[in-house]
Order: sequence, then C-alpha cells, then structure tokens
Amino acid sequence: MTPIETSDVIIIGGGVAGLSTAMQLALRGSKVIVLERQRLGNGSTGRAAGLLGQLRGTEAHTKMLMDGITVVHELQQRADVEIYVQTGSLRLAETPERAKEIADLVAMGKSIGFDIDHLTAGEVAEKLPYMRTDDLLDACYCPTDGHLQPAELVSAYIKVGREHGVTYKTNCPVRKIITAGGRVTGVATDEGEYHAPVVVNAGGPWSYLIADMADATLPTGAIGHVYLTTRPDEQNPVDRLSPGIRNRHLRIYSRPESGGLIVGMYEADPLLFDAAKLPDDFDMSAMKAARDDIRVAILIDAAGQRFPWINERTPMTITTGIMTFTPDGKPFCGVLPSLAGLFHCAGFSGHGIVQSPTIGVIMADLILDGRTKYDVASIEADRFFDMPGYRDREEINEKCQAMSGSYYGRVEGKSAP
Ligand SMILES: Cc1cc2nc3c(=O)[nH]c(=O)nc-3n(C[C@H](O)[C@H](O)[C@H](O)COP(=O)(O)OP(=O)(O)OC[C@H]3O[C@@H](n4cnc5c(N)ncnc54)[C@H](O)[C@@H]3O)c2cc1C
Repeated sequence: MTPIETSDVIIIGGGVAGLSTAMQLALRGSKVIVLERQRLGNGSTGRAAGLLGQLRGTEAHTKMLMDGITVVHELQQRADVEIYVQTGSLRLAETPERAKEIADLVAMGKSIGFDIDHLTAGEVAEKLPYMRTDDLLDACYCPTDGHLQPAELVSAYIKVGREHGVTYKTNCPVRKIITAGGRVTGVATDEGEYHAPVVVNAGGPWSYLIADMADATLPTGAIGHVYLTTRPDEQNPVDRLSPGIRNRHLRIYSRPESGGLIVGMYEADPLLFDAAKLPDDFDMSAMKAARDDIRVAILIDAAGQRFPWINERTPMTITTGIMTFTPDGKPFCGVLPSLAGLFHCAGFSGHGIVQSPTIGVIMADLILDGRTKYDVASIEADRFFDMPGYRDREEINEKCQAMSGSYYGRVEGKSAP
C-alpha cells in the first residue's frame, strides 16, 4: 500500500515521553511524525501534578534526573518560555527507618555532587509554616527541585519539535504495526499507512496494547491515581515558592498551586484499569472521582495528618487519572528481541513528567547511535523478556498494582531491605 507519509521515525503517542523523544530526534536531524489517538498531552500527561524531584534511590537514576533539569533549562531557552518553578523540595522523616533512609540518600546525593542537605524541624517549620513539623526526626532539602505545569511542558516540546520539522497528527489511533522480515516497517491507521524503519511505542497506559499489536509482551499496567488541590486559605497561606514535600511514611507529596496546595497519594491499594476496555473516545481529562470515594477519603485523611487544616470540609478539587506502572517501578526504554526497529518508551510509574527531559535524550541516543552515555541497565525494555511470571496479563497487572501500592511505602537507601 502506498503510505500517506514516510519518515525516519514514527512515534505512537503524544504524551511527554513521545513528545520529548520526537523533539530530541528532530534536533538531531531526523524526520519524525507523532501519531496521537486523541489530543496531544491528553493522556496521563494532562493529569500530572508536575512535581520535578531529582533525588531517587540510586545514583544512576538521580544523575539522570539532575541532567533532566539542565534539559528543562535548555528547553526554556529554545522555546523562549519560562515553565520551571524552582521551589526546592523536602523529604520528611518521622520514623527512625525513614531518618536512616534520609541519611543514606543525603550521603549518596552528596557523593555525586547533588545539592542536598539535612534540615532541622525548626528550619522546616520556617520554610513551611502551614505544615505540622513537631513529629519530624529529620528532613532533607533539595534546593534545585521544583515543579511545572505539564501543559506548558507539552507546548514547549511541541514548539521546538515543530520548528525542527516534527509533524503531529491528532485523532489518529494506530491500529496495527506493520512488519516485514523480522523488523518493523510502519503502522496502519484508519486513514492509511505510515512507513518508517523505526517505530516508538510511547503509548502510556495503552503501551501494552500497542506491544500486543506486534505480538510482544510489555509488562506495563494501568493504575489509578488521585490528588487534591485546596483553594487559597487566608489562615494558611501557601507561598507560590514554598517547597514541595515528599512524606513517604504517610505516602503523600505536595506542592504549591495558585495559592492553595496540591496533595497527592500513592495509596496502598490502588485501582487497576484494563486499557483494552477504555473506549476509543476515552478522554482522561474528563475522569472524575467522587468526594465520597474511599480513595479520596484516605487521601484527605493522610493529607490532614501532615497539614492539619485539611479535612473533608476544606474547599478543594479532586483530580484523578491513570498512570503506567511496571513490576519494578522503572520504565521500559529500548527494543525487545522479538522485533527489530520497534522501540518502547513507557512505564514511567508516576514520574514521567520529571523523567521525560532526559528520556528524550536517551531514546534519541538509542535510536540513532544504538547506545547512550547514561547507565540504562535498570530501564532496558527487555529486562523481563521471556521471564516466567511476566507474560500473562493477570500476573503482570498484579505485579504492577503491587509495585504502585508499595511505591512510597518502600524504604530506599543503602540500608534498605
Ligand atoms: C494524577 C496523576 C498525577 C501525576 N503526577 C506526576 C508528577 O507530579 N510528576 C511526574 O513526573 N509524573 C506525574 N504523573 C505521571 C505522568 O503523568 C506520566 O508518567 C507521564 O505523563 C507519562 O507520559 P507518557 O507520554 O508515557 O504517557 P501519556 O501521557 O499517557 O501519553 C500516551 C499517549 O499515547 C496515546 N496513545 C495510546 N494508544 C495509542 C494508539 N494506539 N495510537 C496513537 N496514540 C495512542 C494516548 O492517547 C496518550 O496521549 C502523574 C500522573 C497522574 C495520572
């Protein structure tokens, strides 16, 4: 069939993963087309709280995210916009094991040149007068962390991508992956075929269905997530530059938003979605969570333990959406042995906004050079390939749900179990 268009790379999915990859490939001279089933940035990306925290449990991952902030600053210059709000962020410890975790992470961060240090409870109270601090055993502060609005990040990726020749096609679901001689040659849509020697699966919660089109198993799972946003409260003003927090013992995070506060939670028993059952016209931005939903009640209760002025009567909005988790909480970036030319870029496990700047660079490196300077061992797409327990959809869903449920519950650092 004569293709509608032939390019160097086809990207399936116009969320931050696909858009960042498209931009980086175009900056390096590739002809790229992004095919999006609905609107650009309207999957998980459009629902994100937008926190950018660089500190992770490993050196490799933290270094990757440190570089991501540099990419965001470069992006601001290229797109001539200001999208990053550098507020700094804090991790809190109210138990001895969390205090040990913080001690380990501060030592690890310092050893790789990351700007991080301990803060006393008194210093935390000065920075966040609207937060309970009397129970803190320790805290650490990362001054270069911050947040952004995902919609602004999306616009910046598109602006720079378009200037470098990326074509964006919306309302264009990919229905089939076309192969010949053991490698990918293009995709089929309702309008016809698009051809390219490289196709990138950046389908977020739908990524495992896209892999299925190539008879491949990608162990991602679609998991629900909820956060609240309070309205401005004169009694508890939230400065727009007050630091974000991560309080893993209570499983919550927060950041300032328009005079109020966003508080989100990685709950112990998250909701599992079947991406195959989401209708063709599914619009994530239309998802709603009822105020009397048990998950919302659990979130408000946890938020109130750290911010005692938050309770079920506090004026707030509730945002809910679907994330993509993997069995080990790390994304899948690269090819599977079963089909040459089909790259996967999915499974960002609640951190796709913060990871997307560096992931775009890594994907462009892997696609164009076959290697990257980054340590990608832990995010390689084939790390579960053909492993027992990672092929059956029900088993994969269980593992992804369990990983999401234990995400903030887990203790990190070198003394972690
Ligand atoms: C409530 C919530 C809060 C979050 N908060 C944060 C945060 O504070 N910080 C952070 O870093 N991350 C956060 N995340 C996670 C972050 O949003 C995701 O990790 C990130 O957006 C994933 O981007 P993506 O491009 O992989 O997926 P998506 O944004 O979902 O993009 C995938 C795209 O693929 C398209 N697609 C699917 N199938 C097809 C097909 N067959 N053909 C064509 N297109 C297709 C979809 O329509 C979609 O637009 C949050 C997520 C949620 C839900």
